[in-house]
Amino acid sequence: MDKAQDSKSWSIRDIIPENHPRKESLLIREKLIEAMEKSILVPQGLIAHGRGECFDYLIGEKTQDFAEKAIEAAAATLLLAKTPVISINGNMAALVPEGLVRLAEETNAKLEVNLFYRDERREKAIAELLYKANAKEVLGVGEDASTVIPELFSQRRRVSPKGIYIADVILLGLEDGDRTEALVKMGKKVIAIDINPLSRTSRSATITIVDNIIRAVPRLVEKVKELKSKNKEELEQIVLNYDNKNVLAESLKFIANRLTQLSLSL
Ligand code: ATP
Repeated sequence: MDKAQDSKSWSIRDIIPENHPRKESLLIREKLIEAMEKSILVPQGLIAHGRGECFDYLIGEKTQDFAEKAIEAAAATLLLAKTPVISINGNMAALVPEGLVRLAEETNAKLEVNLFYRDERREKAIAELLYKANAKEVLGVGEDASTVIPELFSQRRRVSPKGIYIADVILLGLEDGDRTEALVKMGKKVIAIDINPLSRTSRSATITIVDNIIRAVPRLVEKVKELKSKNKEELEQIVLNYDNKNVLAESLKFIANRLTQLSLSL
C-alpha cells in the first residue's frame, strides 16, 4: 500500500525533515488529527484551527506586545477572582491539556468541559485527558451540566451549577461569539484566548489574548506565578489600567503595519 494511504503504519513525525520551516505547525496538525481519532475533537475543530493558523501568520507567529498586556491583565484578574473557571473544549484539550491543568492549579480555578457539539462520549474523553494531565476535578461531564445559561440555544447552554454557572471569571479559548456574549450578559468577566482580533468572541470578551493558545497558556502560567507576589491593590491597579479596546486596536494596527512592511520588502 502507498505510504500516503496507509496512515496507521507510519507517523508524520518520521517524514517531516528536521529543518522543515513549518515543522511545528505540521506536528500540531497531527496532534489535532490524533485528538479527532480519540473523539476529543470534531472535524469542525480542524477547520477552526485552520482559521487560527492564518491569523498566526499575520501576527508573525510570536506573542506580541498587545498579547503580553492582555496576559498580564488576565493573570491579575484570575488571581483576584473568587470563583474562576477554565472552560474547556476539544481544541483546547487537544492542544494544551497540561498547561490548562497547571493554570487551574496556580489560580485555584475549576476546570469545566463545555462543547458546541456536546456528547457524553466526547465529554468523558476530554475529562480523561485532563485527569491524565493531573486534573483533580473536571466539571461539566454528563449530568453535572444540569444548569442552563439563559439566551443560548446550542448545547453549550448546559453548564455545571458548581462551575460556569456561579463563576465570576471564565477563561475560554477558540470559542464562538454567542456564548461569550451570553456569559458577559450574565455579568461574568470573560478572558478569551483568540488569535483572531476580529471575531465576535474577541470583540465581546472582557480581556482578549490575541495569540496562539499554544504560546498563550504557558505564558499565562508564568505570569500568574510572577504576579502572586503582588498584593490585592497592585493587582487591581493592573486590571484598572487595562483597556481591551485599545489592545484589540493595537493588534489590528500591528497586522496592518506588518503587511505594509512585508509588501515593501518584495
Ligand atoms: P466568532 O463567532 O467569535 O466570530 P468564529 O466563528 O471564528 O468566531 P470558531 O470558528 O467557533 O469561531 O472559533 C475559532 C476561533 O478560534 C477563531 O476566531 C480562530 O481564529 C481562533 N483560533 C483557532 N486556532 C487558534 C489557536 N491555536 N489559538 C488561538 N485562537 C485560535
